[in-house]
Amino acid sequence: MKVSILGARESGVGAALLAKKLDYQVLVSDHGQIPEDFKIELNKHDVLFEESGHTIDRLVDSDVIIKSPGVPEHVPVVQALRKAGLEIISELEFAARHCHGKILAITGSNGKTTTTSLLYHLMLAHDYDVCCAGNIGTSFARALADRDHDYWVLEVSSFQLDDVRGFRPNVAAILNITEDHMDRYHYDLALYAEAKYKIAGSMQADDHLYLNASDPVSREYQKYLPEGFSPKWLDASSALGDTLEMVSGGRLDLSKMKLLGEHNRSNALFALMMLDTVGLDEEKAQSALESFQAPEHRLELFAEHGGVRFINDSKATNVDSVYWALKAMPQDTILILGGKDKGNDYTPIASLIKEKVKHLVCLGVDNEKIKKDFGNHFAIIPEFQDPDLMSQYILAKAETGDTVLLSPACASFDLFDNYQDRGRKFKQAINKAIDKQ
Ligand code: ADP
Repeated sequence: MKVSILGARESGVGAALLAKKLDYQVLVSDHGQIPEDFKIELNKHDVLFEESGHTIDRLVDSDVIIKSPGVPEHVPVVQALRKAGLEIISELEFAARHCHGKILAITGSNGKTTTTSLLYHLMLAHDYDVCCAGNIGTSFARALADRDHDYWVLEVSSFQLDDVRGFRPNVAAILNITEDHMDRYHYDLALYAEAKYKIAGSMQADDHLYLNASDPVSREYQKYLPEGFSPKWLDASSALGDTLEMVSGGRLDLSKMKLLGEHNRSNALFALMMLDTVGLDEEKAQSALESFQAPEHRLELFAEHGGVRFINDSKATNVDSVYWALKAMPQDTILILGGKDKGNDYTPIASLIKEKVKHLVCLGVDNEKIKKDFGNHFAIIPEFQDPDLMSQYILAKAETGDTVLLSPACASFDLFDNYQDRGRKFKQAINKAIDKQ
């Protein structure tokens, strides 16, 4: 069997390692430079690779092509291979074909990493033989090449779902569907929703699919479900009180969770319902729920000083996540917005900003849109490109009872390597400014 892989990043290299383990002939092909650490790894496993361009003749001579999630459909190499009639699948599909464990897969526009980590944390507390992989970090294929597990908790992005054929999770969730990555889907929400619904494309009657009853977009596009398949609609408002009744009969106290905000109640509801299909012990689930901390950069409370709370929500790269972050905030919030705008419409957060934000600060190169939309409401909107200078300004402004929230609604690439870099530099700068006081 000859397998060629387009794109040499985590998914592509993971797929190569799995293919090699299966004794397939493998070629990894990347249109750009392959990062050094991946090259070392490929060499170590005797995997052939080419970089800075694709040799179509070599690729055409494959039985199957694995397309990494970062490779868009429209690029010439993909078009050429499609024209040649080759089977093109995603790394997710490839790994799933070789996995014997039960798969619990989570997708959605927002909340994937939080829900995936929480479900994994809950399952570990139950001593299940479980591995967590996918979009969250280690690719599914790489983890599977290491060893199979009884259960796989997978974070799945729409890009990974674009090229699935028979991917059939035993349990799956679409947390919500809001506009994101529109550039990859011809600015058509229906195409993006269709990609999300591919998580369920091969599911059968004895599988469980959880959908968000409060999400109008999920409702509108349920037409993409396989014919006759019945999902379970979860009502997020059922998780807003203190007690949650499980289908299996257990009762959980959600008020003791460390996670902030209504949206995290919804995430917890999904994680618990998914766990419930596998088997939930009330005591173990309760204590795991209470010990779970928000993953880094997701409404992460990282400092408290002089009665001021500091929250890093650098992963909030779209307007919807800022909406939910603001909903979780008290009145006196100092909000930091800005970065690389992905075509944002700030209307959904306008009234929350007016209600809860006492100072608005920009951290970005081009802040014109933010200033235009909110300039009437704030006397000044200071702009910064240096997190240290910004933090000094904020510490001088903040008063007891305030909450400082970095929830930028934008990508980070104008000033930072990625959202993790932005979040860490923000935390360092705030902590430095605190130390100086
Ligand atoms: P993803 O992996 O889908 O990007 P994360 O869990 O990393 O999701 O969270 C990304 C951002 O979205 C964070 O700012 C987080 O606070 C926010 N968020 C988390 N869950 C939800 C949700 N259910 N609805 C809206 N926003 C959410």
